[in-house]
Amino acid sequence: MVVVFIGSKIFLVGIIGKIPAVVSLSVTFGLIAGGVVVSLWKTRQQHAPVIPFTPTVTADAEGAQPVSLDIIILGAGMAGASLAAEVAQHRRVLLLETEDQPGRHTTGRSAATYFESYGNATVRALTRGSRRFLLQPPEGFADVPLMTRRDGLIVADHAQAAGLSHGLMQAPVPEQKLVSAAEVMALVPALRAEWVGGGLLDMSGHDMEVATIHQGYLRMAKRAGAQLVLDAGPVSFERRGGVWHVDSRAGKFQAPVLVNATGAWADEVAVRAGARPVGLQPMRRTAVTISAPTEFDSRHWPMVIGADESFYFKPDAGQLLLSPANEDPMPPCDVAPEELDIAIAVDRFETVTTLKVRRINHSWAGLRSFVADRSPVAGYDPRAEGFFWLAGQGGYGIQMAPGLARAAAALLLERPMPEDLVAEGVTAADLSPARLYLQSGEPA
Ligand SMILES: Cc1cc2nc3c(=O)[nH]c(=O)nc-3n(C[C@H](O)[C@H](O)[C@H](O)COP(=O)(O)OP(=O)(O)OC[C@H]3O[C@@H](n4cnc5c(N)ncnc54)[C@H](O)[C@@H]3O)c2cc1C
Repeated sequence: MVVVFIGSKIFLVGIIGKIPAVVSLSVTFGLIAGGVVVSLWKTRQQHAPVIPFTPTVTADAEGAQPVSLDIIILGAGMAGASLAAEVAQHRRVLLLETEDQPGRHTTGRSAATYFESYGNATVRALTRGSRRFLLQPPEGFADVPLMTRRDGLIVADHAQAAGLSHGLMQAPVPEQKLVSAAEVMALVPALRAEWVGGGLLDMSGHDMEVATIHQGYLRMAKRAGAQLVLDAGPVSFERRGGVWHVDSRAGKFQAPVLVNATGAWADEVAVRAGARPVGLQPMRRTAVTISAPTEFDSRHWPMVIGADESFYFKPDAGQLLLSPANEDPMPPCDVAPEELDIAIAVDRFETVTTLKVRRINHSWAGLRSFVADRSPVAGYDPRAEGFFWLAGQGGYGIQMAPGLARAAAALLLERPMPEDLVAEGVTAADLSPARLYLQSGEPA
C-alpha cells in the first residue's frame, strides 16, 4: 500500500484484492480510516505494448568477420527507424538496437498526439513539415490512416484565462481560436463549470498511430535494403583508420559514419565515442489510463490540456488517458512510474472535472529528453569525425519524425535541405550540435 498526501487529500495507491485502485480521501476521513488495513498492490506496468519485429540479420559474435556498411545507426526507436528509411535507398545502412524489440523505450510510451502549436519555432516548423507525410504516407507504408482528427483544448481557470491570448500569439497556428467558458463546457461537460475561465481550441490536433508509423518506417527501411539487428547490447565502438568499429553481442560491424539515435542515452554514447555531450536531460513523464466515464460520452472529447501545462487528459482506445505532464529529471534508464506522479495525475483530474477515479487500469512512464533550447539535435559532431547526432526530440519526436528524418538525411548525406522544410523555416544551424557548444560559451 502506498499512502500519498497532496494538499488536503490522501491517496491510497495500489490494488484492493485483485483490483488496481487509487482511493482519494479527505484528511479527516483518512485519519479515521488510518487504522483500516487495506492490502494494496502497486499498479505498475513498465510501458505500453512493445512493437514486434523480426530481425533481418542474426550475426554470431563468435569469430564473425566485421560486416562493412556505409552508415551504422545506433537505436531503432522512431528516430533511428525514420532516418534509416530515408537514407537506405542511397547508402548501405545497419540499424543496431540493444533491446530485443525496437520501440521498447520512449517511442512505445508516447501519448500519440500531434499539434502544430506544440513546442518551439523549430519544433513547430518540423511538425508542419511532417503533416503531409502523416496524412498521405507513401504507397505501402501502412494499411490504416496514421492520424485521425482530435482537437486540443487548452483550459484555463479564472486567473489564467487572460493569458490565453498571449499563448495564441506565441504559437500562431491558423486553426486556433479562443473559446468562452460556456463553449469549453459544451465541448467537455465533465469539467467543473465553476473552475473554467476560458479556453483555446487548437484544431490542428490529431491522434497518431505510433506503432503503425514506427513499423511503417522499419518496413520502408528494410525494403530499401537496410538491415536491422536487435538484441545487440552491450555495444562498444571506436574510431580507427577513419572507420567506426562496432562490437556487439550480435556481431562486429564497421562503417565510416556512426549515427547516435539512442534517445535518452545519446549523451552517454557521445562521451563513449569521444564526442562532447550536448547537455541532454532525460525527463520522466507519467501516464495512466482509467475507464471512460459512464455518465458522459467522452469518445469525441478534445484532448484537454491545463493552461499551465500541469495536466492533460484525452480519450484513448475506449478509455481516458491522464497525465500530470511531469518533467522529472532522470538518468537514462528503463523508467517506471512513481506512485506520487499517479496520485498527482488523479488529484488534478478530480480538481478540474466532476469525475472520480476509482481504479487505474494501466500506468507507465517514459523519458522525454531535451537539450537547453528544446530543439532537436541533428548534424555531424564538430569534433568527432563521422559521428552524427539525431537526439533531443523531447515530447515531439513522433509528430515531427517525418520532417526531422528528411532534414537529418539531407545533413547526413551532405545534400541541400528539402525545399518544403526550408519554406517552413527549418535550418541546419537550428539543428546543429555546434549551436549548443556555442550557447554554452565554449568554442565548437
Ligand atoms: C509519456 C510520453 C508522452 C509523449 N507524448 C508524445 C506525443 O504526444 N507526441 C509526440 O510527438 N511525442 C511524444 N512523446 C515523445 C516521443 O515519444 C519521443 O520524442 C520519441 O519517441 C523519441 O524517439 P527516439 O527514437 O529518439 O527514442 P527511443 O524510442 O527511446 O529510442 C532510442 C533507442 O536507442 C536504443 N539504444 C540506447 N543505447 C543504445 C546503444 N548504445 N546502441 C544501440 N541502441 C541503443 C534504445 O534501446 C532505444 O530503443 C512522448 C514521450 C513520453 C515519454
